[in-house]
Amino acid sequence: MSSFVQYAPISRVVVFGGTHGNEMSGVTLAKHWLKDSSEIQRQTFTAESCIANPQAVKNCVRFLDQDLNRCFSKEILSSPGSEGDPYEVKRAREINEQYGPGVSSYGFAFDLHNTTSNMGATLLRCSKDDLFSLHLANYLQSNTGNQSMPCYNFLIDIPVEDNAYLQHITKHALCLELGPQPQGVIRLDMLSRMRELVNQALDFIDLFNQGKEFPSFETDIYKFVSRVDFPRDSTGEISAIIHAELQDKDYVPLKPGDPIFKTLNGKDLYYEGERILYPTFINEAAYYEKKVAFILTEKVKWKVPALKVQQ
Ligand SMILES: [Zn+2]
Repeated sequence: MSSFVQYAPISRVVVFGGTHGNEMSGVTLAKHWLKDSSEIQRQTFTAESCIANPQAVKNCVRFLDQDLNRCFSKEILSSPGSEGDPYEVKRAREINEQYGPGVSSYGFAFDLHNTTSNMGATLLRCSKDDLFSLHLANYLQSNTGNQSMPCYNFLIDIPVEDNAYLQHITKHALCLELGPQPQGVIRLDMLSRMRELVNQALDFIDLFNQGKEFPSFETDIYKFVSRVDFPRDSTGEISAIIHAELQDKDYVPLKPGDPIFKTLNGKDLYYEGERILYPTFINEAAYYEKKVAFILTEKVKWKVPALKVQQ
């Protein structure tokens, strides 16, 4: 006897591109689907795309005033706001009104990003409780496609009251980080892989709505442990850069004693942790301003129960 997790069918889906205005695969696809959304429709639901940060897209920058993907906090969304609020704060409220928990009830949001790190297709979620998105990720992982960009499950486990990411305004969601791709650049291989993943995700939602049962499975999750800053001098300037042996080694086990930085004087600096961890977002361009050189994760195995639609 297997027990199922059950969720209500999903009647509306939104695909966000341009949450960061210079991450061009999602920007390009969302613009394309705004002109013609036939590719993203399925039998059992309607889908639409949305440019989340149109002003940042127009200027081909990550954001104007502040990071939109940190503006969906309870505090921001529940306050009435004022004229002088930062652009992204106003935009977060607009998006929440249009797609968040309200009369329109969008059941699933896909938030499309690029990273400059060598992270393949990273499926990022901020809640360990959304088993629907884990099944969706499993479906993407087991489907053939461009396997030179494999899918990884990444979890930043944030208490719901502290979650300021776009993805938490709908019941189910996934953020896709695809890379490496430079900011402001459209690479065909990245765009094609993103398009393939979005279409497979929409197929999964369609199958779920139609009553297909998805068996339980075991999966690897890369769970957030800590952020690591660059070494800095007394004035706060970066004094060492990502080591050649770490560059592009996202999701490769990092062992105590492995080199992680090289100083400008040529000295190697080593990982001094006590256990093997898995670095991600290595040398991500957008994280220099956040003082993050890379993020450490631990690899954990999860058993995910079977899934079917609530009738
Ligand atoms: Zn992004």
